[in-house]
Amino acid sequence: MLRLTAVLTCALCFASAPLSLLHANSKPNITKSTFGKTTDGQQADLYVLSNKKGMQVAITNFGATIVSVKVPDRNGKVADVVLGYDDVKDYESGKAYFGATVGRYANRIAHGEFTLNGATYTLAKNDGENHLHGGVRGFSKKMWTAKDVSTGNRPALKFTYVSEDGEEGYPGKLEASVTFTLTDKSELIIQYAAATDKATVINLTNHSYFNLAGQDSGDILSHHLTLYADKFTPVDATLIPTGELRNVKGTPFDFTRAEAIGTRINQSDQQLKFGKGYDHNWVLKKNKVGGLSPAAELYDAQSGRVVDVQTTEPGVQFYSGNFLDGTARGKAGKAYNYRTGLCLETQHFPDSPNHPHFPTTTLKPGERFRSTTIYAFSTK
Ligand code: BGC
Repeated sequence: MLRLTAVLTCALCFASAPLSLLHANSKPNITKSTFGKTTDGQQADLYVLSNKKGMQVAITNFGATIVSVKVPDRNGKVADVVLGYDDVKDYESGKAYFGATVGRYANRIAHGEFTLNGATYTLAKNDGENHLHGGVRGFSKKMWTAKDVSTGNRPALKFTYVSEDGEEGYPGKLEASVTFTLTDKSELIIQYAAATDKATVINLTNHSYFNLAGQDSGDILSHHLTLYADKFTPVDATLIPTGELRNVKGTPFDFTRAEAIGTRINQSDQQLKFGKGYDHNWVLKKNKVGGLSPAAELYDAQSGRVVDVQTTEPGVQFYSGNFLDGTARGKAGKAYNYRTGLCLETQHFPDSPNHPHFPTTTLKPGERFRSTTIYAFSTK
């Protein structure tokens, strides 16, 4: 049943009042309110999806971005466990990709260049010599169109965006969508789909920074992480994979058993030096190619909060927030310092278009790109 309540244009309504307040008796499971205006005057909206466990997920159509995830701890105390901002303008100017849907190609492409069907394509070098996260104005900086696609008691929002042929240098007009569904089991299901009219490359992810103790509560070094991966893709000094799939055994990259993130992060290790900490892609053990399988489990012993990540993607980029330096002022003006949030970005491997032995990121006309990731929240 559709529960989305449109922003009313009546003069009595307060522009920024969540519509749940205006419809207190109808208990909508999605509310919509204003989220400010972009510098070119576009109105951004903020949608809040709620479930009966007291979990709330707020998403804006700017960048199809997850703005907040409010979940109870083991004693029922609710906290917001993702980093972000209070207004769309900060997302527009921000450089950290907090919560955003990242594309057309998430992660790096070496020297901003790749070849497809004999043609060479040149992309922006917006990360030193390399291309990062879709370019100067990738999908994370675009206004998406939202539609309520809730079914039964599952609030769901589908965001669509059409990326024109040649946008940011990528070939093909790409029609992309991302659907966020919240279940009563406190799973946030993210489903991506896309189609193109010319061969192109695609790699979509969500860039939420988690801090399970609460987004304003210090570093994430005591969080325990499990990664369902025996191998990772080592990188060069510019964070481009060398092409090797390296065994994690005996290295600080072994998270096959739950380990505190801080235990080995400062070890003298060339890969940790290149990443300034963890900023690498792990090769997930897959039960079935293209099927859902476990990617990660993150646990904060203090609050008891857990997030389990499952994905159809072959890899996960674990980024330990090494570039956060306090200059980004987040919600309620909070300075996000070094390693106060971490990302678990499910995706294809970085720079796949230049590594033919990596799982392919090519999308051809007539094919349908599909990808699913589930972040399931619980406590223990
Ligand atoms: C990358 C980091 C980068 C961060 C923010 C992550 O996905 O791996 O190197 O600094 O995004 O841009």
